[in-house]
Amino acid sequence: MKYTIPFNKPFIAGKELYYIAQAVTFGNLAGDGHFTKQCSRLLEEQFRIEKALMTPSCTAALEMAAVLCELAPGDEVILPSYTFVSTANAIVRVGAKPVFVDIRADTLNIDEQQIEKAITHHTKAIVPVHYAGVGCEMDRIMDIARKHNLLVIEDAAQGVGAYYNNRALGSIGHLGTYSFHETKNYICGEGGALCINEPELIKRAEIIRDKGTNRSEFFRGEIDKYTWVDIGSSYVPSEIACAFLYAQLEMMNVISERRRTIYRQYRKLLKALEVQGCLSLPHIPEDCESNYHMFYILLPDRVVRDALMDYLKKHGIMAVFHFIPLHSSPMGQKFGRQVGDLSITEELSGRLLRLPFYFEMTEGEQEYIVKHLKEGLEDIQMGKGNYSVLQAIES
Ligand SMILES: *Cc1c(COP(=O)(O)O)cnc(C)c1O
Repeated sequence: MKYTIPFNKPFIAGKELYYIAQAVTFGNLAGDGHFTKQCSRLLEEQFRIEKALMTPSCTAALEMAAVLCELAPGDEVILPSYTFVSTANAIVRVGAKPVFVDIRADTLNIDEQQIEKAITHHTKAIVPVHYAGVGCEMDRIMDIARKHNLLVIEDAAQGVGAYYNNRALGSIGHLGTYSFHETKNYICGEGGALCINEPELIKRAEIIRDKGTNRSEFFRGEIDKYTWVDIGSSYVPSEIACAFLYAQLEMMNVISERRRTIYRQYRKLLKALEVQGCLSLPHIPEDCESNYHMFYILLPDRVVRDALMDYLKKHGIMAVFHFIPLHSSPMGQKFGRQVGDLSITEELSGRLLRLPFYFEMTEGEQEYIVKHLKEGLEDIQMGKGNYSVLQAIES
């Protein structure tokens, strides 16, 4: 199937190849060279993060966070079921148990009111996931964490450049994780960062990131040889990826401005359908500044959502849905525990449809999408009408 309008098109900011050429010229292509440091510094300064360590992915950063929090068999970690697999995988890999709670119906973020119900004497940490680049209720979540002596790891994979009460997502919890995967706002193909806001965790994070060695200290001249001192893995990204990323991070404001325009245009074009009760549009709370990571709509039910997705596909428009709730997945069932019936998660994951969203999207493309979306909904409505007439005749 060839789509006229794909779901995503990776955006090239302009200087990527130039910076990669520079990295090649500098002659240091492994990790922690000039561009890796530039990316870290930019994130630290821009988002007021104590220490930002670049990683090969957000998944890697979540894995590091699990080790840093010393999660182990017998420990429990509270997270929403409505998230990407990496959030839970990081917990299960170290033998701890993911405890799934429901989401809020307005933002699809973890429902902070459900967190305390899920706390037991095994609970070690909370992982709020900032869905669509809209912040979770972090003030409340940090209060709960303080009260119960828990660590907070923000999964800010989708939240780079977004704010909650004027604080950057990823800079509020003890740890935070970013993604620079091709589908996110600022990209380098595959990439991520671990944000460390707790100074005592920095030294160990550097060691875990570099195969369990104290090589970072060696390179800073703090010790005269480096050796194996802890567990670790290969969590240092290549300079080439960081050179690419730096070109994107420099253009962060331009990228987010453009995404805001696309987001607002969608809202404007779809407002009438919301007023008519055909669908609902995303909500951004007052205290949140979004990075406009995505645009989704909520349809009346799963049948309409699936039919609309098919209709758009037939017209060359790629709209997608996610996530399959983790508590209902084979791994979630095997290793996790759920608190409550997670009815909002189950309902909304069946009703959600993400519309194409990329920097170079034109107004014409947005109008084309919305035109077909309206036609699709009318088509489905008519089909349903016929169906109920048929049912009436049969009965
Ligand atoms: C994209 C994403 C990840 C994984 O990011 P990678 O950089 O691809 O590892 C993790 N959590 C959430 C919520 C995501 O959206």
